[in-house]
Amino acid sequence: MSVSIFELFKIGIGPSSSHTVGPMRAAKQFVMEAEETQFLAKSRKIKVDLYGSLALTGKGHGTDIAIMVGLQGEAPDTVDPDQVPFIVAEVRNTEQMKLLGKYAIPFHEEEDVIFHYQETLPYHPNGMRFTLLDESGQAIKEHVYYSIGGGFVADEASFKTDRLVQDRHKVPYPFKTTEQLLAHCKTHHKSIAEIMLENEKVWRSESEIKEGLLKIWHVMKACIERGTREEGILPGGLKVKRRAAALKAKLIAKESQENAIKDEMNWINLYALAVNEENAAGGRVVTAPTNGAAGIIPAVTNYYLNFIKGANEEGIITFLLTAGAMGILFKEGASISAAEMGCQGEVGVACSMAAAGLCAALGGTVGQVENAAEIGIEHHLGLTCDPIAGLVQIPCIERNTMGSVQAINSAKLALMGDGEHFVSLDQAIAAMRQTGLDMKDKYRETSQGGLAITVNQPAC
Ligand code: SF4
Repeated sequence: MSVSIFELFKIGIGPSSSHTVGPMRAAKQFVMEAEETQFLAKSRKIKVDLYGSLALTGKGHGTDIAIMVGLQGEAPDTVDPDQVPFIVAEVRNTEQMKLLGKYAIPFHEEEDVIFHYQETLPYHPNGMRFTLLDESGQAIKEHVYYSIGGGFVADEASFKTDRLVQDRHKVPYPFKTTEQLLAHCKTHHKSIAEIMLENEKVWRSESEIKEGLLKIWHVMKACIERGTREEGILPGGLKVKRRAAALKAKLIAKESQENAIKDEMNWINLYALAVNEENAAGGRVVTAPTNGAAGIIPAVTNYYLNFIKGANEEGIITFLLTAGAMGILFKEGASISAAEMGCQGEVGVACSMAAAGLCAALGGTVGQVENAAEIGIEHHLGLTCDPIAGLVQIPCIERNTMGSVQAINSAKLALMGDGEHFVSLDQAIAAMRQTGLDMKDKYRETSQGGLAITVNQPAC
């Protein structure tokens, strides 16, 4: 099975890829299948059961909202984020759900969306069950889905075969490990980006791939721009203040002074803050590879464009193709789900991807790119996931600034070397996987440990 780069970089909606994007996609998939099999017209009630991390941090991450929107046939990449509150308000006010936008049934949120805080389904901590019932209260269709990180959705059948998307395309240069990827590069005298481009051609033409990647970049850039304009308090009850707009004003004021030196690091901070504040506000973001870590790749790409002489669109394409290859390696070798790996699987992976992407865009060799990715993850090993009140705000927003700066430093360090390095990327990914498995549940997106406990806030 193969993964397209456009499955990794998905245009979506905040605040969480695993708890918002994945559940919305699963909900839509369920009702679409139910319509195809003629069950939707017979249904009079729908029941949604959320388990494990989806239950524990689902309210803070907007899982219930995402499901209500997805059941009405909306998708994360096309729904207007500004319309979401109105769509949900209508369901709540009318106590009615229009499945796929056409089949109206009664819907009482309190009874019909059930959070199972103490239970986890067998294959993954992010489990959900959808059940349709007929007039007599009999279940007529039921399906269990898992949101396995980065907006990817799997069901029981896919766990029994392969955890990745069920895509049977055969790519010319298949790889699951860095060793295999680097062997392709060596044998065929290609860069990592070139290998990715050839693989991607099984889905679409070269011009479509390049246009698609630039579209992804433009959505990321629009997110940065919107994030630097918006002010106020983020939703959810923690009263976290948005900081990006004020930081931008300060930077512009400071740099308007004579002989002022551009404050590179604070501009990078600004880009990441802007994206993650937009994400926390439920705005339009690109999962890269997740929403919680969505600020790092845009921040580092924008750094490349604004601070590197000669930066251009070809460089952005090289950046994203290379970063995407690293994302696939992490997905194949470990996981990008914080419910399995903690934050090392989100911010750590995004840092590694961005480091590799930047290194490649700056002309790094294959060895230097691997080295950059390895440095990027090595220094995030053990990073826990402990969002306060289950909201993707603290520590998440600031953590993206840290990941961005570290990604740039990783690329710089690697570019100063000759590509030789002690720890291979495969060894670092294996260490991440083992560390994630050893991590207690309370540090894996359950908001039951770390800052989520020491900062005493009621669950939102
Ligand atoms: S702490 Fe990290 S992994 Fe957890 S929600 Fe925040 S960004 Fe995602």
